[in-house]
Amino acid sequence: NICWWQNLLGEGWPGYNLELFNYPEHYHGDIENVYIPHGVIMDRIESIARDILEDLGQHTLMVLCVLKGGYKFCADLVDSIKAQSRSTNCPLTVRVEFIRLKSYLNSCFKGIYGFYNKLISLFFPHAKQNVLIVEAIVGTGKTMMSLLKHVVTFQPKTIKVAGLLVKQGPNGAAMLPDYVGFVIPNHFVVGYALDYNEYFRDLDHICVISEKGKLKYKV
Ligand code: 5GP
Repeated sequence: NICWWQNLLGEGWPGYNLELFNYPEHYHGDIENVYIPHGVIMDRIESIARDILEDLGQHTLMVLCVLKGGYKFCADLVDSIKAQSRSTNCPLTVRVEFIRLKSYLNSCFKGIYGFYNKLISLFFPHAKQNVLIVEAIVGTGKTMMSLLKHVVTFQPKTIKVAGLLVKQGPNGAAMLPDYVGFVIPNHFVVGYALDYNEYFRDLDHICVISEKGKLKYKV
């Protein structure tokens, strides 16, 4: 039930001029523009949290955060779910677990290095629970499909996916999350915990990396 075109930042969206924003001096020259400002991200998260509460607010919610890029989105989403749930008669219990996946070196997809460890089985002490996977960005969807295959084996009651960003590919992503923040063109974006070789996680806004930035932090 996703109207993905409603949150599309199309190919023509140039991003905001950097001069309008405050960002760390050590990244001057390394980013092209501010693509999605921090305040806009936070507003969108509030609205995703409301949708999640409406759909899943009846039972304990098991949140599975995909590291490292998903840590800020997950923290802000869980905070917003908790804050909104407090104002209902039946506040929701939320449990959070983490899984680390890695698929990019420089800005190239290198396959999925999964860390499907014991933690994930500790996270599912009983089957038949509502699971929400929280991922910062879905590109081709390969990473998410591989994780979903694994989570399904624990037979949760429902599995939903929240993706802050979804990339619009030539054939579309292989999977669309149930909750989508923004649909973006195929730029390599950084900030708000999204990295380029571990840099830029300390940038609050989501930005497009510049060619100079790619060269500077290339490994
Ligand atoms: P997919 O398997 O969907 O193609 O890729 C998903 C993973 O690739 C994400 O978990 C993220 O780690 C990484 N990724 C894809 N696009 C970008 C991007 O534009 N910026 C960053 N920092 N990571 C990306």
